[in-house]
Amino acid sequence: MEDIRARILALAEGTLPDHAGWVALIQDASEEDRLFSRNLARERAQARFGRQVFFRGIIEFTNHCKNDCYYCGIRRSNRELSRYRLTEDEVLTCCKEGYKLGYRTFVLQGGEDGWWTDEKITALVRRIRAAYPDCAITLSIGEKSRQAYQAFFDAGADRYLLRHETADCAHYGKLHPPAQALENRMRCLFDLKEIGYQTGAGMMIGAPYQTADTLASDFAFLAKLRPQMVGIGPFLPHRDTPFREFPAGSAEQTLYLLSLVRLMLPDALLPATTALGTLDGRGRQEGVLSGCNVVMPNLSPMAVRKKYLLYDHKAGTEDSGESSLQKLRAQMQEIGYAVAVGRGDFTSGRDA
Ligand code: SAH
Repeated sequence: MEDIRARILALAEGTLPDHAGWVALIQDASEEDRLFSRNLARERAQARFGRQVFFRGIIEFTNHCKNDCYYCGIRRSNRELSRYRLTEDEVLTCCKEGYKLGYRTFVLQGGEDGWWTDEKITALVRRIRAAYPDCAITLSIGEKSRQAYQAFFDAGADRYLLRHETADCAHYGKLHPPAQALENRMRCLFDLKEIGYQTGAGMMIGAPYQTADTLASDFAFLAKLRPQMVGIGPFLPHRDTPFREFPAGSAEQTLYLLSLVRLMLPDALLPATTALGTLDGRGRQEGVLSGCNVVMPNLSPMAVRKKYLLYDHKAGTEDSGESSLQKLRAQMQEIGYAVAVGRGDFTSGRDA
């Protein structure tokens, strides 16, 4: 449809659609329109970043969580899970291995684990910062107070990933128990940005009860927040959650929506996620070919890999840090992309 093409081109030139325009883009695009968008997003990403992808090592350092998100495999109410947390020394050992493999960004991700108090996280960040002054430290540990975010930042954290999950209040309420509120998640995201973090928001594609309307709200929210990073992957069911019976999101829809994010935020750091790679063996390659410029191989110790399952059949739980890296590097080479070493910070196209 010419109308959809015109909207895609307008988005690429910086014109934001209104709510109805987003809904149209999300639900009325034909297969050809979707490919058109993905190809345009790839061209734009190549022009901006070259044929290279930033690699980040992800360390899943605790699967204890006080929250009870209905979609998530490490939710508090999942009694089938054996819980673990790495010690500070074990996290440092992961960083050491990662550094040797060439990583210059460490992503510390975990559940909201009360054992890891704000003070302990601050001390951990300080230790990593001192040991690896040339590396970026990314945290992905959920909702904290503004003071805590400030303390982590002052200790040396550079980036923070906190997906907003959905910008629609009623939809948020269907994905989370009443104790968790969208308002606080949004407060966190604006705090993180104000403090000076490179901040990442995002959502799952095909999450239960998601509609074109809720996705339109997600895009409007991303347009308003203008995060430096956007994490988007398909929803995948986990057998020990209330959402076990819901179907997985589609790879095609995820790739198309990733391309729209690339066109809207030309400078963004946009990962081709593990969830996308889990849904489709070529998912991460297709992601890069639709405008993504980041991949996050796993650096967690082998012994805990199978315990950090947010969803079923997660890719890469059998691979060591080194073989995760080699496999992804080979996948990127296959499509003509190189792995970028270096921190790979966000820069605005206007400064470049
Ligand atoms: N506790 C941290 C990290 C959460 S895990 C936080 O609150 O940010 C990182 C992301 O994994 C979540 O934000 C969610 O969007 C995604 N995720 C969780 N369960 C999932 C599932 N079943 N399928 C796909 N993605 C999932």
